[in-house]
Amino acid sequence: ALQAGIVGLPNVGKSTLFNAVSNSAKAQASNYRFCTIEPNVGLVDVPDARLKKLAELVNPDRIVPTQLEIVDIAGLVRGASKGEGLGNKFLGNIREVDAIIHVVRCFEDENVLREEGAINPIGDKEIIETELQLKDLESVEKKWQKVEKMARVGSDTKAKAEFEILGRCKDHLEQGKNIHTLGLSKEEKLAVADLFLLTDKPVLYVANVDENSMHTGNKYSDALKEAAKKEGAEVIVMCNNIEAQIAEMEAEDDKQMFMEEYKMTEPALNRLITSAYQLLNLDTYFTAGVQEVRAWTIHKGWKAPQAASVIHTDFEKGFIKAEVIAYDDFVKYGSEAACRENGRLRIEGKEYLVQDGDVMHFRFNV
Ligand code: GDP
Repeated sequence: ALQAGIVGLPNVGKSTLFNAVSNSAKAQASNYRFCTIEPNVGLVDVPDARLKKLAELVNPDRIVPTQLEIVDIAGLVRGASKGEGLGNKFLGNIREVDAIIHVVRCFEDENVLREEGAINPIGDKEIIETELQLKDLESVEKKWQKVEKMARVGSDTKAKAEFEILGRCKDHLEQGKNIHTLGLSKEEKLAVADLFLLTDKPVLYVANVDENSMHTGNKYSDALKEAAKKEGAEVIVMCNNIEAQIAEMEAEDDKQMFMEEYKMTEPALNRLITSAYQLLNLDTYFTAGVQEVRAWTIHKGWKAPQAASVIHTDFEKGFIKAEVIAYDDFVKYGSEAACRENGRLRIEGKEYLVQDGDVMHFRFNV
């Protein structure tokens, strides 16, 4: 499964959020699967209203959503890039995730220690980002020095191009910016792909506010939103303490009552997981049979055989064709049979680019 890592300074509410995530995953487990892989890794279902809708129409034995792995990356502190705390270990953990959930403290509570003085979401955000940027700068400079000689002396055009790209990365990082916002093209990214840069990962911010501000936000979350807007990043305003309390409750009735009290229609966690999944820039297709209605994750631009391989590798090798119904058609006509009658079921071949929301049925040789 793809991974999103939770980062942030100490005492901002990371573990509280992670506990909420893993407890709500446990609650889902009563339906089908649950897994805590390691103490700091949890597997959650990605909420998808389309999956629910399809299940209502097909009424299957099982509903299987796609999942996302959430990793709690604790221990990032000022100086981490220089090995402060267990800095290098934690930075290594970030290297492995596909997206970052950056938790920022936007609540006041004198009982919760803050080493950095008064509440300061922008300052906090910058401390973490500076550490990641410094680490990236180290990687970029190392390669830059290696490539420099080749680029300067010879007629190696590839080295020259790489050198130029690395130089741009270096400048950008030195200005305190993340590689993600540099706007490198797909080809240009190849020059730094081997570095697995930390600040090239998509980021989503959680403004962890006090419970009174969870619907309105507060001055801290507003400031964070302002800063995130400049990067084109999303901010989820939520109260991690409340989320943890909801996730701890076993009975669905209790949860509902509790949420009503706080005027919530659903846990903010759902919004967070949905957004984190969207951040990964993936597509979802569905299979809809009487045994199982299921969501499958693919990368954008995948063709039908490759999409089939996420179900089973044999599906790709033996691929013959796919029967495809667009999600909207499936809902409009209400069943596969009705779609077929109305000419809404398409037969597609090997070159078909799978679209987000497609309801697929693969035909293959074994
Ligand atoms: P971490 O170090 O970032 O993992 O932070 P924790 O999740 O351990 O939280 C540190 C302390 O802050 C704990 O005592 C939490 O109960 C408290 N905390 C977390 N979220 C909130 C919140 O939304 N409001 C308040 N008042 N306290 C919170």
